[in-house]
Amino acid sequence: MRTFPDAKAVARTLRPDEPVILNRPHAARRAAEFFVGKFPGKVLYAVKANPAPDLIEVLWDAGVTHYDVASIAEVRLVRAALPDAVLCFMHPIKTPSAIREAYHQHGVKTFSLDTIEELEKIVEACRDPETGEPAHDLRLCVRLRVSSEYSELSLASKFGCDLTDAPALLQQVRQHCDWLGVCFHVGSQAMTPFAFVQALDRTRAAIAEASVVIDMIDVGGGFPSIYPGMEPPPLEDYFAIIHHHFYALPIAYNAELWCEPGRALCAEYSSMIVKVEKRRGNELFINDGAYGALYDAAHVAWRFPVAALEDDLRDAAEDFAFYGPTCDDADYMAGPFSLPGDIQAGDYIEIGMLGAYGAAMKTGFNGFGNAEKVVVTDEPMMSCFTGERDRPASDNVVNLR
Ligand SMILES: *Cc1c(COP(=O)(O)O)cnc(C)c1O
Repeated sequence: MRTFPDAKAVARTLRPDEPVILNRPHAARRAAEFFVGKFPGKVLYAVKANPAPDLIEVLWDAGVTHYDVASIAEVRLVRAALPDAVLCFMHPIKTPSAIREAYHQHGVKTFSLDTIEELEKIVEACRDPETGEPAHDLRLCVRLRVSSEYSELSLASKFGCDLTDAPALLQQVRQHCDWLGVCFHVGSQAMTPFAFVQALDRTRAAIAEASVVIDMIDVGGGFPSIYPGMEPPPLEDYFAIIHHHFYALPIAYNAELWCEPGRALCAEYSSMIVKVEKRRGNELFINDGAYGALYDAAHVAWRFPVAALEDDLRDAAEDFAFYGPTCDDADYMAGPFSLPGDIQAGDYIEIGMLGAYGAAMKTGFNGFGNAEKVVVTDEPMMSCFTGERDRPASDNVVNLR
C-alpha cells in the first residue's frame, strides 16, 4: 500500500475517479493499546466490524490476542492471518459443518449459544469423529438477551436467551463443559455506560437463579466511537462501571472478564475520498454510497465527518445531502454534511470515521465496488484516543437520554 501524508496529498497526486480508502494503522494501534492497557480484562476484536487482514495484523501487534468470529469464513480468514490467535465463535446460530471445521481444523474451543438446539449441535459437531467421544475442552458461552435502549443500533431482537429461559439453559450447558461463560451485547454505539449496568444486572439475576459456577463474563461490544452529534462519555467511564459491577456478580473467584469491541477498535482506522460528480442545489452526487462504504449514512442516517479537499473554496459552510452512484432511490444520505458553499462537480471530499462497518461493507452493486487503498499518516478526523477527550472527574456524569 502506498503511503501519503494526508487526504489532500492523495487527491492531488492521484486525482482519482473511483473512491479511495485511506487507512491509518497508527490510529487502530492506538485504539488497541488503549483497550488492552485500560480495560480490566481480556479484549477480543469483533472481526465483523472490519475483517481487513492488514487491520487484524495491526491489532495483533498491539496486543489483541483473541478474536470474535461470526462465520466460518471469518474463522479461516483470521486463522490464515494469525496462526496463534485464539478464535471464539460468538455467533449464536452456526451450521454443524462450520462448528466441525472450526473445532477440528482451526482449534476453536469457545462457542456461544442461546438455545438447547444450538448446544446439541455444538456437542454433536465436536465429538471425536473416530471414537464418538464428546469433546472435553469446550468453552461455552450463553448469550443473554439484554436491552438495546441506550445504543444507536439495536442488536436486541435477534439473539439472546430470555431471562426466564436462561437459568435452565445455563444448568444444561454446565453439564457439557468445564468452562462456562455468559455473554451479551448491549447494541452498537452505546452512548452511556449505564447500558452495561442494566445488562450486568440481568446477568446477575440469571446466574443467581441458575446457581451454577460461572467462569467468564463477556460484556460484548457496543463501546462507542465519536461522530458529529454523537460524542460519548470517555471510555474510561465504561471500563470503571463494568469493573465495579463485574466484582459484584456471584461468580467464581477467578472468573474472567472479557469484552468484544468492534467499532471502538477500528472506526478511526479508515476514511475515504469521494469525488463530487454533480451538484444540484445543496445535493451532491458522489461516487460512493449505500452500496459502498456509506451504508450507515444511507440506511440509519449516520452522520460521518466530512472535509472538502480543494484549497480554493472560499464560501462559508452550508448543509449538504449526498446521493450515491447507483440508480436506487435508497442510495441517498440526508446528513446534513457541512461543506463550503462553493463546492462543485470535480471536487474531492474526505469522509471520516469509516473504519467500522464502512470500508468493510462495500459491494459491487451497479459496478461501483472498486476502491484503491492507501495509507495516510495524519490523524483521523475525530478520535477518542488522542487525549483531547480527557475530562475532569467532576465532569464525569452519565447522561441518561
Ligand atoms: C457485532 C458484535 C460485536 C461488536 O459490536 P460493536 O458495537 O462494533 O462493538 C461484538 N460481539 C458480537 C457478538 C457482535 O455480534
